[in-house]
Amino acid sequence: MPWVNQEMCTGCGICVRECPVDAMEQQADGRALIREDECIRCGKCHDVCPRNAVRHDSERIPLEVAQNLQWVQTLLKNFSTQEEQAAFMERMGRYFKKQIKVGERTLEVVSQAKSDFSGVLDAAMRALRIPENH
Ligand code: SF4
Ligand code: SF4
Repeated sequence: MPWVNQEMCTGCGICVRECPVDAMEQQADGRALIREDECIRCGKCHDVCPRNAVRHDSERIPLEVAQNLQWVQTLLKNFSTQEEQAAFMERMGRYFKKQIKVGERTLEVVSQAKSDFSGVLDAAMRALRIPENH
């Protein structure tokens, strides 16, 4: 998922005009923003930006880790005793391990697809007994 580094963006608007699904907007100061729920991940904004301000998703890993830690810290406040806190941290550990497994298994299917991509995804979903438009 691309994102716009606000410090590097000059607000030229090129990416906003080039986005094929209108998933980008210019803020009051002109700088671009991606509406993540509308982005189809085509990468065009990254390719056309003259300032290299549209950045790769991997650069956000530290930020997303920090957001996770902040979330855990917020929830932790609901538990007062050492035992409750330890049990909570264990549950959160299980939750993050599950997230890793979901990512790994999804990646397995995605990287198996060399052609007929949609067919490979349909077959994998059938194997998991999940309806295609679930
Ligand atoms: S990746 Fe494509 S769809 Fe997403 S914001 Fe950029 S140009 Fe638009
Ligand atoms: S093309 Fe680059 S510099 Fe121009 S508005 Fe988009 S992100 Fe900002």
